[in-house]
Amino acid sequence: MALEEWIRALAPLSPPPVAVRKLFARVFAYGAPDLAALRQVAQVPRAIRDHVLARGELPSLEVLERRRAPDGFVKYLFQSPAGGRFEAVRIPLFDRKYVVCVSSQVGCALACDFCSTGRLGFDRNLRTWEMVDQVLRIRAEADRPVTGVVFMGMGEPLLNPVEVLRAARILSHPAGLAISARAISLSTAGVVPAIHRYVAEGHPYRLIFSVTSAIPEKRGRVMPIEATHPFADLVGAVREYAAVRRERAMLAYVLIAGFNTGREDAEALARAFRGIPIKLDLIEVTDPSGRYRPPGADELARFRDELQVLQAPVARRYSGGKDILAACGTLAGTAVGGELIQA
Ligand code: SF4
Repeated sequence: MALEEWIRALAPLSPPPVAVRKLFARVFAYGAPDLAALRQVAQVPRAIRDHVLARGELPSLEVLERRRAPDGFVKYLFQSPAGGRFEAVRIPLFDRKYVVCVSSQVGCALACDFCSTGRLGFDRNLRTWEMVDQVLRIRAEADRPVTGVVFMGMGEPLLNPVEVLRAARILSHPAGLAISARAISLSTAGVVPAIHRYVAEGHPYRLIFSVTSAIPEKRGRVMPIEATHPFADLVGAVREYAAVRRERAMLAYVLIAGFNTGREDAEALARAFRGIPIKLDLIEVTDPSGRYRPPGADELARFRDELQVLQAPVARRYSGGKDILAACGTLAGTAVGGELIQA
């Protein structure tokens, strides 16, 4: 529960606001929390504490496996007592901090053709606690602070918005995990109505829009969502997002050799997003099935030259953890490579 839900739930007991905040903060404090720890929280009236202990539940995920890749990325495999296995990735940043890539669903219904999670199909939405606990488990074992979270693991976060946004509120609350809202991102394949709702509700977290091709027919070949939410509608939603937030919209572009790296692809991007402030992140595809390959150095260099027509910042984003199948689009519960690590 987010803090405002604690406040609503306890309102009939008229607790002092500071007592509710202290209980909430204890749940997310360092160290594996348990309900009994709430007994030690000072300045909380006994009736409030007893009420919470009698009705509260604090489930936790089991860590089935941790696997470290040579580049320092660590993939966690979790088992939930509510059923289902899913993964999260600890991403090292500048040898100083970590970002955690969390899953929002078990599997994914959107079936992007280049994505191992999509090939699993959809099982269920994760609950808020299952997302927050991915970060808590990883933070508890980390030797550096966790300063960012990306909802870019298994699943489409905007198809599970209530639970995801509640998790983001807890992660960013100063009495929660105190991760800056600006350092929390949700990556969407383009669920257009949910993007409009998100913008209207004014959430502070960043959205990342997965484009992969600005040629609708081509996009539709690898992203079935194109049939439900056409590219033109996605461009409209990106325009609105950038205008309302007065910031560059970040687009993610999965690079696939011989497919979306030609001049026509760069020109289509430029045409579609003319007049919209954007930033383009290039991510090389990682497909363990071998059906899709990343472009070679020459193909990539040529495409980057072509992208000058975009007149927008373009960056190549490192998608790490390939050796252990922790890179973007490869989370599917597969145990392979790297070094197994103990807690
Ligand atoms: S890329 Fe994202 S939206 Fe597409 S199938 Fe994979 S997890 Fe789902």
